[in-house]
Amino acid sequence: MAFVNALPLTRPATNVSNTSFVSSRPTPTARRTPVLHPTMSIEQYQDELIATANKIASPGKGILAVDESTKTIGKRLASIGVENSEANRQGYRGLLFNCAGLGDYISGAILFEETLYQDSAEGKPFVDCLNNIGIIPGIKVDKGLSPLGNAASFETWCTGLDGLAERAAAYYKQGARFAKWRAVLQISDSTPSKISIQENTWGLARYARTVQDAGLVPIIEPEILMDGDHPIARTAEVQEEVLAAVYKACDMNGVLLEGSLLKPNMVVPGSDFAGSTSPEEIGTYTVRTLERRVPSAVPGIMFLSGGMSEEEASVNLSAMNKIDRKGPWSLSFSYGRALQQSCLKTWMGKPENVSDAQQALLARARANSQANLGKYKKGSEPSLDALGTFEKGYKY
Ligand code: 13P
Repeated sequence: MAFVNALPLTRPATNVSNTSFVSSRPTPTARRTPVLHPTMSIEQYQDELIATANKIASPGKGILAVDESTKTIGKRLASIGVENSEANRQGYRGLLFNCAGLGDYISGAILFEETLYQDSAEGKPFVDCLNNIGIIPGIKVDKGLSPLGNAASFETWCTGLDGLAERAAAYYKQGARFAKWRAVLQISDSTPSKISIQENTWGLARYARTVQDAGLVPIIEPEILMDGDHPIARTAEVQEEVLAAVYKACDMNGVLLEGSLLKPNMVVPGSDFAGSTSPEEIGTYTVRTLERRVPSAVPGIMFLSGGMSEEEASVNLSAMNKIDRKGPWSLSFSYGRALQQSCLKTWMGKPENVSDAQQALLARARANSQANLGKYKKGSEPSLDALGTFEKGYKY
């Protein structure tokens, strides 16, 4: 690729203790560089990380998030009266990953660990099914949220750093090329607390660097929940603070920004906010926030849907892509609920509905592909998800 550089994109592993203190002032590199991993394997993967991140963020493409934990997919299956058995999880995910033409709109799929190692009912590894339709397999690597001491009772930190280097290497071997880690922050009069911002953004950056060392592009997901009655301006203010901390921590950890992706929430008012808002207002606040805080080296910003309905998620994304912006990134989607709702409700666990369910998935994928290009026309693709999927204190 033209921009794969002769320049070092990450800092060399200069040992700070070798820096001469006699010279008047240390060089910026020596002053700021801690002792890094002895192997520096991020350098081995640098070109591949950049190529993968750019491929995922290519025009008209986004991510299908299907990394629901076994418990969460159980809730989805229960909503259509289907038992949460391994065979049914395999059946549902087989429907998604054998959907011909899906790769025209979807560049990557985030999987739960079980799925990464699973075969379709016909005995074909899911990784191969995805590669066959032009979709890059990815993997959720965090181990979920845990209560955060010395913070508000509902605040959490994200676990999963122990053994992450080894797991990431194994996931790469199995065919994954990108990863996801979801940290959660919540707005109230007194939150997110300083400690919650510090802990969650630091965890995201440590994770990002660790998986890059194993060749996986990190999706950095600092989700600010929609819960609350705050206005949109408060979400914007909090998101600016959080994103500043994310990229400060990424800098300290030597994360290769060109080989990373950001997965934020859109800037929306709290779910209990009394007033109303428009897609244009959401787009304007979101673009402003990102332009203020996200480095232009990041190739793609892939939004989560966070409880918006399928239509809302497409219309809002399209509105923001119509705005003239300075930021060079692709503004696209990494939707879970807002891509799967109609598909799931059409399938209902019945083999005779598989083809219709795949058409429902394609319709929403096409809608969001158009939205990434700023061209989605409200109501032009079908949806069975009129009410949305918002749930208080949502767990993924
Ligand atoms: P939703 O689009 O359903 O919010 O999920 C995306 C996701 O991957 C959350 O981590």
